[in-house]
Amino acid sequence: MKKLHILLIFSIVTGFYIVDHQYTHKKNMSIEKKSTVAQKSYIISDNAIDAQTWQAIAHDPTSDMLKTDTQQWLEQEKQAIWHELTQLGVSPKLFKQHETKYRTEYNKYNEHPDQTNKLNQNTIALIKDVLKEFNINADTIAFCPLKVRSPIATTDCAILINDSMFNEMTHKAKIFTIGHEAQHIRFKDDSTFCIVEQLLDKRCANAEQKQKVVERFSRFLEARADYYAIIKHPDYAQGLIEFMDYMFQLGGENGITSHPLKKTRIALGKKVLKQNAYA
Ligand SMILES: [Zn+2]
Repeated sequence: MKKLHILLIFSIVTGFYIVDHQYTHKKNMSIEKKSTVAQKSYIISDNAIDAQTWQAIAHDPTSDMLKTDTQQWLEQEKQAIWHELTQLGVSPKLFKQHETKYRTEYNKYNEHPDQTNKLNQNTIALIKDVLKEFNINADTIAFCPLKVRSPIATTDCAILINDSMFNEMTHKAKIFTIGHEAQHIRFKDDSTFCIVEQLLDKRCANAEQKQKVVERFSRFLEARADYYAIIKHPDYAQGLIEFMDYMFQLGGENGITSHPLKKTRIALGKKVLKQNAYA
């Protein structure tokens, strides 16, 4: 059951409803080489967020991250969420008290046997290249087939791939999704989310309030994963835009509240490209 829950939050999510380091592309020739193939397309003609987009995303709470410094917004949003959680009985102190025990349980439950042999080997090679870019040791990650209709998903210690969907995407969309999942692994988002949810179940009886803060927390984790993936290199920012185009074609703007709206995520990609914040 928990496994399904995890998939719902971070896998289906990344794919369907929705799922700071110095760029070191010189160290990774395969990515650099592949990236240059589509280099011409990464500067899209208009990176500005137009009035129509602002109108479409006005009701999305995460759209505030576009109006100001996104990193600062993420920090403020994290503080605000913990304030809200504390009011519902789940303080950072309580979280810390339970963290070790809950993470041990989480790790035990989410032990995935590696099934690399059942997956497309080019995909695995690409994932390993991108994980290396984000300083994640691929030897600690299990690779498994993903059965739900989403290209890619993660737990803290496994990456699950739906080969046929994954291979429908553009190269930049692929590397973006891997970079995004790398952030979930880096921050242990999946287990953190599970711990917060379990503590809330014990401490807060108001289902509506609980739902609201859990969704806000999920949107924050997704926005953070997007942001730290796309500030790595323009190809990842362009990949976010291309990934969202792909998802939009599959499911439109389906109003799911666990992620920022697709239009908001596209606008974030455009904003970062426009700022051209790549040293
Ligand atoms: Zn995600």
